[in-house]
Amino acid sequence: MRGGLPLFRFRGIKVLVHWSFLLLPAYIAFTGLQGGSSWGMIGTDVGLVLIVFLCVVLHEFGHALTAQRFGVGTRDITLLPIGGVASLERMPEDPKQEFWITIAGPLVNLVIAGLALLVMAISGMALLFTDAMGSITSWSGVLIFIFTANLGLFLFNLVPAFPMDGGRILRSLLSMWIPREKATRIATTVGRVLAVGFVAYGLLQGEPFLAIIGIFIFMAAGAERKQVIMRDRVKALLVSEVMITPILQLPADTSLQEAWNALTFGDHKALVAKDASGYLGIVLREDMQTALTNGLAGTIRPLVRPAIRVHTTDAALPLYQQMVNEGSLAYAAMDGDQLVGVVLRSSLVETFNAEAGSKAS
Ligand SMILES: [Zn+2]
Repeated sequence: MRGGLPLFRFRGIKVLVHWSFLLLPAYIAFTGLQGGSSWGMIGTDVGLVLIVFLCVVLHEFGHALTAQRFGVGTRDITLLPIGGVASLERMPEDPKQEFWITIAGPLVNLVIAGLALLVMAISGMALLFTDAMGSITSWSGVLIFIFTANLGLFLFNLVPAFPMDGGRILRSLLSMWIPREKATRIATTVGRVLAVGFVAYGLLQGEPFLAIIGIFIFMAAGAERKQVIMRDRVKALLVSEVMITPILQLPADTSLQEAWNALTFGDHKALVAKDASGYLGIVLREDMQTALTNGLAGTIRPLVRPAIRVHTTDAALPLYQQMVNEGSLAYAAMDGDQLVGVVLRSSLVETFNAEAGSKAS
């Protein structure tokens, strides 16, 4: 669903129209013509829909500009037939920031509705409210339309179902009191129940659009849940859960060929080199392989990489970031003075992915 026709740029944020958006006026024209509407009436309907989408763009800028205040950039705002999407670079994990970024969108619609009401009140049109509902072509009718459309957008977005703003607001409010993972579970469950309700209602009442939105919400709620649970699981991993054991320990004076035989026999990814003073560092399987293919002989000593010692109870994720920053490939996992395992950068990535894939649901 990425990409589209660029419309304009404001404060560095691009506004794009997805190609599928063009289906909307086509759909309006098609149903209008089938219902016997004139081209003038169809034109009015398309105009009204464009007004709604202008309000949707303002809604998305509510999210994007609030995010900007918290130092979060927005890649772009894309208009789809079902609404707008502001692609934030990330959603802050601070529940207060998530709350303000999310509620800013619906609040924009509330403000627009309030302004429309104010203009109506000032021009003495509030009394005409009930009569003018039918005559949408007059500009007082347009004003009332802007009022009701924005009130509708405000209320619809507050429905607590991911990925609608209401779901995110619920999650952020809950995470002020309980852990984010639990808050996400609750918010996504509420979202899924509502989504099933949308689908059932849509099918029973012959509203396929509502049923499609329901299916979309159901799947999006699942994706959100999975992502957060995965992040939390990976965050909770300790060195003891990601280190490689058992470890092969050899004297640094062992010949390359002999060490290679021992390594491949036990199918190890690395070995720990020692000498009289204690442990020296780690020798990686790929380094030995390269050395052997280049015809090197002698001992494994020149291949020893000095490895930082980390503790088995350290958190694994920050270590991975540290390894990337330092350009390190291996750390030694210590339990007290005892070397009990090896942490390899390559296998950390595998572990994170496996953890995310197998346990999140
Ligand atoms: Zn929104």
